[in-house]
Amino acid sequence: MIGRYGPDHLNTALIVLAIVFGLIGRLTGLTSFFAFSYLPLFLALFRMLSRNIPARRAENDRFLRYYWPVRTKIANRVKTLSIRVKQRKTHKFFRCPSCKNLLRIPRGKGRVQVTCPKCGERFIKKT
Ligand SMILES: [Zn+2]
Repeated sequence: MIGRYGPDHLNTALIVLAIVFGLIGRLTGLTSFFAFSYLPLFLALFRMLSRNIPARRAENDRFLRYYWPVRTKIANRVKTLSIRVKQRKTHKFFRCPSCKNLLRIPRGKGRVQVTCPKCGERFIKKT
């Protein structure tokens, strides 16, 4: 692999795409889909063995410009969801009726007045 580009995020994505296409092709019996799965696989292989490292880096940078914000958004959603699941017995989660900001209040406190820290909206909520 000396002088070759090697693996990167775009290649990983291409291989995952090839696997997904291959599985869809196998499960649905669509042979054209199965054959189409080889295209991203060969592209990933070509990129990994390429000696034109600056060009491959530029491709990866362009890919990451779109991929990274999406990945960060998904990671944040998963993190928020895991916090909600962990605290579901001690806290009540809901959205602000005005700005849709996610808020939480401790359970078992009766009716409380909530002030949204983001927009300042005040409303009554049952815990
Ligand atoms: Zn609000």
